[in-house]
Amino acid sequence: MTHVWPTVDADVIKTVDTIIDRTIHPAAATTDAGGVFPAEAIADLAREGLGVMLVPTDLGGADTSSSTYAEALARISAACGSTSTVYMTQMHCAHPLHLQATREQAHTWVRRLCDGSAIGSIALTEPSAGSDVSTMRTLARRDGDEYVITGEKTFISNGDRADVVVLFASVDLAQGKQGVTAFLLETEGLAGLEVGRPMKKLGQKGASTVTLALQECRIPVANRIGEEGGGYPLLLRSVVRSRISAAAQGLGFAEGAYDSTVTWAGEHGLLSSRTPGAQDLQFELARLRGEIAAARAMLLSVCDTVDTSPEEPVAEVSLVKLHCTALGTRVAAACLDLLGPAGDDVALGVERRLRDAKIAEIYDGTNQIQSMLVARDTNLAAKAGRAAR
Ligand SMILES: Cc1cc2nc3c(=O)[nH]c(=O)nc-3n(C[C@H](O)[C@H](O)[C@H](O)COP(=O)(O)OP(=O)(O)OC[C@H]3O[C@@H](n4cnc5c(N)ncnc54)[C@H](O)[C@@H]3O)c2cc1C
Repeated sequence: MTHVWPTVDADVIKTVDTIIDRTIHPAAATTDAGGVFPAEAIADLAREGLGVMLVPTDLGGADTSSSTYAEALARISAACGSTSTVYMTQMHCAHPLHLQATREQAHTWVRRLCDGSAIGSIALTEPSAGSDVSTMRTLARRDGDEYVITGEKTFISNGDRADVVVLFASVDLAQGKQGVTAFLLETEGLAGLEVGRPMKKLGQKGASTVTLALQECRIPVANRIGEEGGGYPLLLRSVVRSRISAAAQGLGFAEGAYDSTVTWAGEHGLLSSRTPGAQDLQFELARLRGEIAAARAMLLSVCDTVDTSPEEPVAEVSLVKLHCTALGTRVAAACLDLLGPAGDDVALGVERRLRDAKIAEIYDGTNQIQSMLVARDTNLAAKAGRAAR
């Protein structure tokens, strides 16, 4: 690292860089081309004690700052988008369990997610409910010591591999958000659970995305996470972390495309040439470098706010998700333009970063939804007479 952000743990980043060089980067092209689940990368991160960064060490986590996690995930994303999505989903599953599962549940499942012996998912989106969670139709009906769950979750990352799923369902559809409740689904042998075939996708092809159909799945009451109706606040806390993940990915995709372009330009003598065409390229690279540096500072600064603020900084997180994921697509597309036909060459991996980047603008709440949340905060700030920035 040329400069270390004060709250980023440089030792952790050094370890991540070693894993990227050893395992993640060499497999990135084949992971994408063959749609290969990056099991070895996840195992390697877990072996080094980095299976899940944002949970405490007594549960097997690395207990890093959010900025360390974001810096690490950006680097993993720069190397391989599929690996970054599988890796971040492990955290998206472990984090709500660490916050609200019983001690026994957390000790079993968070530990296994951290040591890499289990794969996790988080299941929120439904065919007709994602942006607006209050329209969730998956129903969890209490029946004695069990809940009987029926419904369908869609676009679930890691869903076909998951040993454990943090599932959000409603205990009372009439109550909207107030009915939303979180459950821990142990998938092995779970009667009534049908896992769909992995979607064919634009990018991140090694990270599977599936539908989970639940038909009268019976789970013990003990597998409820938190109280009945307590799911929505938990979900809000979860999306703050998952939006940081998406933002870090956007930064990483931009950086991966930029680095490959700089390498290519150097190999073709374009970084030192004084011809007008080469200088245009140099100036465009300078502009992109500035954009990436500014986005990194914004992301790491918001991470520090997440770690220190008494309340979840929802609008700031939306803003950084919006900004960094849009940056990923914009920078990767600009790099492809700079490279001309070479940008289409799979060997350079710039087209891969562009394909990987686009969907990060859509998942974890679309960028239109992020804009809406920021606009809402701007209105509240204006009404309260405080600066909205
Ligand atoms: C690769 C991939 C992985 C995913 N992984 C997971 C996962 O692991 N777990 C999970 O639960 N989900 C996952 N998702 C789902 C993803 O988070 C949702 O698809 C996303 O949040 C959008 O929600 P939606 O599908 O309901 O879209 P919709 O709400 O149907 O949105 C469709 C369009 O309408 C727009 N729109 C909707 N409401 C408004 C509004 N009020 N104002 C303005 N525009 C609006 C949206 O911006 C979008 O353009 C994944 C999706 C993908 C593609």
